[in-house]
Amino acid sequence: MWQLADFKEVKVTDRYFDEALHIDIRNMLKLDPDRLLAGFRETAGLIAGEDAKEISGFMKEKSRYGGEWENGLIGGHTLGHYLTALAQAVANPAVTGEELGSVKERLNYMLNALKECQDKTVGTPYEGYIFGAELPTKEFKDNPALQFDNVEKGLDNPFKMAWVQWYTMHKILTGLNASFKLADSIVALEVANRLGIWIAKRTESWSEETHKTVLSIEYGGMNDCLYELYQINRKLKEENSDLYHKEYERFSSAAHAFDETALFEKVSEGKKDIMDNVHANTTIPKFIGALARYETFRTEEKYLEYAEKFWELVTGKHTYITGGNSEDEHFGKDSILDAERTNVNNETCNTYNMLKFSRRLFAVTGNKRYLDYAARTIVNAIMASQNHETGFTTYFQPMATGFHKVFNTLDGNFWCCTGTGYENFTKLQRGIYYRSQGKLLVALYLASEYTTSDYTVVQECDFTKSGNVRFIIKPVEEKKIEDDLWLRIPLWAKENPTLKINGNVATTEQINGFFVIPKEKIADGAEVEICFTLGITCENLPDGLNTYAFMYGPYVLSARLGTQKIMVKPHGIAVVAAAGKSVESDELKIIAEKSVEDFIENIDKYLVKREGEMEFDLSGVSKKLVFTTHYNQYVESYGIYWKFTV
Ligand SMILES: [Zn+2]
Repeated sequence: MWQLADFKEVKVTDRYFDEALHIDIRNMLKLDPDRLLAGFRETAGLIAGEDAKEISGFMKEKSRYGGEWENGLIGGHTLGHYLTALAQAVANPAVTGEELGSVKERLNYMLNALKECQDKTVGTPYEGYIFGAELPTKEFKDNPALQFDNVEKGLDNPFKMAWVQWYTMHKILTGLNASFKLADSIVALEVANRLGIWIAKRTESWSEETHKTVLSIEYGGMNDCLYELYQINRKLKEENSDLYHKEYERFSSAAHAFDETALFEKVSEGKKDIMDNVHANTTIPKFIGALARYETFRTEEKYLEYAEKFWELVTGKHTYITGGNSEDEHFGKDSILDAERTNVNNETCNTYNMLKFSRRLFAVTGNKRYLDYAARTIVNAIMASQNHETGFTTYFQPMATGFHKVFNTLDGNFWCCTGTGYENFTKLQRGIYYRSQGKLLVALYLASEYTTSDYTVVQECDFTKSGNVRFIIKPVEEKKIEDDLWLRIPLWAKENPTLKINGNVATTEQINGFFVIPKEKIADGAEVEICFTLGITCENLPDGLNTYAFMYGPYVLSARLGTQKIMVKPHGIAVVAAAGKSVESDELKIIAEKSVEDFIENIDKYLVKREGEMEFDLSGVSKKLVFTTHYNQYVESYGIYWKFTV
């Protein structure tokens, strides 16, 4: 059993990561809170029976944002993400004093406004209900929870009936939970609890058939957020706080109503191609919810097994080198990845969810594979999803060679991935350190500071400069360090990494893929250095054995393909995707070796790093290419995968 280090104890000092955080905050503060709240206020005004003039005044004469999402039936989902992202920022020590003041003010403003909305529902049949989606017709205005009714009848046309309203509710409730847990907002807890009761009433009213119908339509991770709300209240009760809701047990039953055990069992059976054409971001949160049930009660092992099996399936048979998955939001047949490389792979929400999932799976299992995946994904998919100048983020990351990344705009695209994009960069300190009884574990090598009541750890690391990582560990005052130090040995590490303690080469035990340095060696404080040999590693695809991608140390590399073909086209509901392909073919003919195997075997000769730069020249093939780190390729078209022929 491991625990993620507290949000407030870890500060990321890596420059690139730090910049990513501040641009994210800057963009969030540019958004107009009254426009994000407009739908919630209209809904509340209608529930309270106010007239048009009163409602418009309550809305501060503001309207919902446009772009077909916020002013569509999915509207209000952004507010949920926004609460989570702001709450995370409040708990992030890398946020500056000035930012913190603005972020806190913004968060409290949003929460107080939501409470005002919720207060208007008291004594009505909608008591506790808050929602912000568009109310496009009189029918919707007469019944502001019509989407929920429609879905219970199986009506889910996203323009006319319902657009994943439980998914949106998941985002809202998660945002409220986060605001209580990370920003100590009691208002958030009150709103969450009252909303939780509205949800519970709803689930309690379902017949078996209605239940089945509801679960057949995307509902996000409603189980996850309700188990979380249950846990929050249970803990408050255990602490004898009077803040807990007296009927909080109902949250756990409501959560269980969203556990889709038929699906869990189906995946567990392990049949071939079970994920073919399944919507990825509908499915991943369901399994995070299964894990949440296990985390909450620790009694039903099978829920952990469901989660582990699903994780294994996604990462083993549906995942690209960056850690991303999906083609046009869907999984394909098992191990069909090369054939599905297009301009619309790797939806950011999926990666965000898989990362969250992996960190929590490690905490309960201690299995290093989850950390290896998380370390790869944070750098090569999450950092790679941001335009580092504008701070805006991707919906898709193409895996077909020659496309480019497309980013949202501040007030034009409120996609699902825009919301997760805001969240991603205020929690960059997450997942670096874990604690367990008598143990401190470093999961991610990233310049940062970890401060506990007993000691501090300063981690110095920059793999763009060298493979050396240094930890300066100091006990607080006269205390002794009572934790063994666990250091993850990355999969990409070449040869045996060298370890030094206080300047002296040390040998130490390796347990399950970690170096374990006993506490005695660091009891009075120490400088621990680990020196990795960075080098090129190659990965092909199961259905494209000659289709290779390259990494240098922890970084996925992509070829620079210029800016000539930067162009977009519409895709799906008000989404845009890359349209221009900068290469006609991703085939590279090998001229320097007789076979693909020989070329890959000798890759160090042909993919060569320029001294002092993160630029790599590829030679020995029909076309000269320059590769660079993929995470900061946000200007040019790029190519990660190349098909080698002889
Ligand atoms: Zn998305």
